[in-house]
Amino acid sequence: MITPRVADLAARLPGAALPAYVHDLTALGAHAREVRAALPEGVELYYAAKANPAPELLRALAPHLDGYEVSSGGELAHVRAAVPGLPLAFGGPGKTEEELRLALDLGVERFHVESENELRLLADLVDERPGDARADILLRVNLPAGEGCELGGAVLAMGGRPGPFGLDPHRVEACLPLLRGRRLRLRGIHAHLASGLDAAAHLAVAARVVGWARSLADRYGIPLDEVVAGGGMAVDYVRPRTRFDWRAYGAGLRELAAAHPGVTLRIEPGRSLAAHCGWYVTEVLDLKHSQGEAFAVLRGGTHHLRTPAAKAHDQPFTVLPVEEWARSWPRPAALDEPVTLTGQLCTPKDVLARQVPVAELRVGDRIAFAMAGAYAWNISHHDFLMHPEPTFHFLN
Ligand SMILES: *Cc1c(COP(=O)(O)O)cnc(C)c1O
Repeated sequence: MITPRVADLAARLPGAALPAYVHDLTALGAHAREVRAALPEGVELYYAAKANPAPELLRALAPHLDGYEVSSGGELAHVRAAVPGLPLAFGGPGKTEEELRLALDLGVERFHVESENELRLLADLVDERPGDARADILLRVNLPAGEGCELGGAVLAMGGRPGPFGLDPHRVEACLPLLRGRRLRLRGIHAHLASGLDAAAHLAVAARVVGWARSLADRYGIPLDEVVAGGGMAVDYVRPRTRFDWRAYGAGLRELAAAHPGVTLRIEPGRSLAAHCGWYVTEVLDLKHSQGEAFAVLRGGTHHLRTPAAKAHDQPFTVLPVEEWARSWPRPAALDEPVTLTGQLCTPKDVLARQVPVAELRVGDRIAFAMAGAYAWNISHHDFLMHPEPTFHFLN
């Protein structure tokens, strides 16, 4: 699970460099190449930058992508600077006037419009600009889950039920007259309904979105150039060796694309591209038994790696034994028993993995948490308790 070069660096890093985030950019590139190869020609692959916006990752992914999905003015300025020249799609709820102006200044290629209010604001802002300025938009729709397309198995449902994301289908129709005479070009429909979907479920969502978009375009006699089926491809933290079935997904998209000639399909995964390329490496500071249960207290914690707390899972890990023990007293250890791995925060929520069996774990051993390449450092509350930040390493 841990790549040899990451294991090697994790063992060699000086103690002062821990905790450390180690990213294997070669493994990331190889994974992205496989994803790309599984997708039919013509299907566009964007990376959702919010999963991990580290410039090193953005650049390592660039050769395999058609563009990036960004969800704030901050992300859009950051991604534009890190990988200039690749298309950006600006999505997300609650875009401010300042962010929309910035997006127009930077020539963002696509706007994913989330509401009528946002549509009117964007149209007015485009009107303020020189005469030939245009904005290319997709309307984000919140399609109710339907037959053959249940979101029940999804880990996080963004759509299919009441929520702040996108437009109800009939409100999409209400937007169409607002476009008349405005300097906005409607390029198509965007949907991102759930995350944690397997290939079959994601294909059902994609087919439903494309079918709905097609019938809308036919009913109103408007062109349909593009349909975005979102991200949310499942990442299984319980079975870290399994991957989303990109081949089955690609084969299904090929059929879908063939059934809708002239429509460009686009997907925008984040987690499933980046999660497997990152490790959070740290060491055991203390180890004790409390009322019969073993607890290992690690340097760092969920203020660096909030993923297991946010998603309520055990972060998968590898123990990297360290043989030196220079202290004068016996080395505290857990032997052949379940151990709870906690961090340094003064809260019972600071748990990275709960009661996971280990053969041996001692104070001073190192631990590499896997699947820390997405929604990890960048979603964590770094400042709580004012511990030092981790160091960052990107292996090429
Ligand atoms: C978060 C998000 C994504 C990426 O989701 P993943 O689960 O990381 O693949 C894609 N599109 C939109 C609109 C998002 O909000």
